[in-house]
Amino acid sequence: MTGRPTVVVIGAGFAGLAACRELVSAPVDIVLVDRHNFSTFQPLLYQVATGGLNPGDIAYPVRSYVRKHPNLTFRQETVTAVDTESGKVEIADGELISFDYLIVAVGAATNYFGVPGAAESARAIYTMEDAVAVRDKLARSIERASSRGVQPGELTVVIVGGGATGVEMAGALAEMRRMQLATTYEGISASDVRVVLVEQQDRLLAPFAERLSAYAATALSQRGVEVRCDESVAEVTPEHVVLKSGEVIECGLVLWAAGVGPCSLAQALDVPKVKGRLAVDEDLRVSGHDNVFAIGDVAAAAATAPLPQLAQPAIQGGQHAAKQIRLLLASQPTQPFRYHDKGIMATIGRRSAVAEIFLGIKLKGTLAWMAWLGLHIVFLLGVRNRLSVILNWAWRYLSWRRVGRVIVGN
Ligand SMILES: Cc1cc2nc3c(=O)[nH]c(=O)nc-3n(C[C@H](O)[C@H](O)[C@H](O)COP(=O)(O)OP(=O)(O)OC[C@H]3O[C@@H](n4cnc5c(N)ncnc54)[C@H](O)[C@@H]3O)c2cc1C
Repeated sequence: MTGRPTVVVIGAGFAGLAACRELVSAPVDIVLVDRHNFSTFQPLLYQVATGGLNPGDIAYPVRSYVRKHPNLTFRQETVTAVDTESGKVEIADGELISFDYLIVAVGAATNYFGVPGAAESARAIYTMEDAVAVRDKLARSIERASSRGVQPGELTVVIVGGGATGVEMAGALAEMRRMQLATTYEGISASDVRVVLVEQQDRLLAPFAERLSAYAATALSQRGVEVRCDESVAEVTPEHVVLKSGEVIECGLVLWAAGVGPCSLAQALDVPKVKGRLAVDEDLRVSGHDNVFAIGDVAAAAATAPLPQLAQPAIQGGQHAAKQIRLLLASQPTQPFRYHDKGIMATIGRRSAVAEIFLGIKLKGTLAWMAWLGLHIVFLLGVRNRLSVILNWAWRYLSWRRVGRVIVGN
């Protein structure tokens, strides 16, 4: 009980942590709530799923940051409801946490778009649990095929969605097949492993320039990935996928990278929405609520085109919301949020990536790959994680050695 206003921040992802960083020097008490006690660096989840990185390399323990700031406390809890009228959030066991200001930064969730069987039989790569489950499933199939002989379709992976996540996952699997499986597991040859990437638009990486999309498609095809554009998945079962064209692909694993939708808390909140995301005014306050902000993937502007669900809008939104709380505390008017687009990038594999950066500069190949490696190191949280990722990448890209996937699940 310090007498200072309490700011509750729900979500310790890119957006929530950026808000906390800006608020720790303000005259407030901050309560950060997340269902996990770590922050996940989602852009590298696919490398955990393919065994290239360890889960700990891309997980930043929230308490490493919290312990440095006396006005910041952390609760590992799942928020189940928010009462904006009384200024309280409810956590899973019914306990209420009061707030003067609230920042909702709970991200998004996998969207299966109602495709029959997808939620039950496809795997997402949205959380650390997802990535570890995919890694275990892949490793288990490979071990079984190596010891008992490859069954039809057993080592076929169908990736649904040709955005950055789908392309990166396809590239990583192609590299794993080409350079590692056949040399590590007896009884398995590269031709036993099939990677199919399905995209319903007429090109991969739709937000990128057409020539970068074309480069990505060619680079994947050269690595043996079957790229199917203008195609979509009509049904998923545990043994196969059915494409819209009627083709049936027998497969051991379906990876769902086709898009995101609102998470359960966003769905439960009784506030204005834009396509399931919380509608915010230009200062990032939830429309109609003076002391509630929504930032990152969970939020969308009510009046203008929604920002892409990427790390930079989340980080910049977090900083902006925190600054608005400072202004409100000083009885000053809030300011509109202006997003500074720093570009987009996606990697296909070793010495192959695409990037669109400032001044409209477009890069592909080795230069884009070096930029991709550098930026991901810079944005990773924690010195230990950066060193660990650098060591893992150096080991992998210089020696190609990453033998044997470890299975940790049951
Ligand atoms: C596989 C993948 C690859 C990506 N690659 C890129 C990329 O290359 N470049 C890029 O810019 N962006 C990328 N993104 C998108 C980027 O990661 C997101 O836009 C960004 O993480 C959004 O930040 P956020 O803080 O809004 O949400 P998140 O980072 O998702 O954080 C939300 C937090 O809220 C917590 N939470 C959720 N619900 C509750 C609840 N009810 N109670 C308590 N806590 C809760 C979660 O545990 C989580 O920690 C990728 C995303 C994925 C999934």
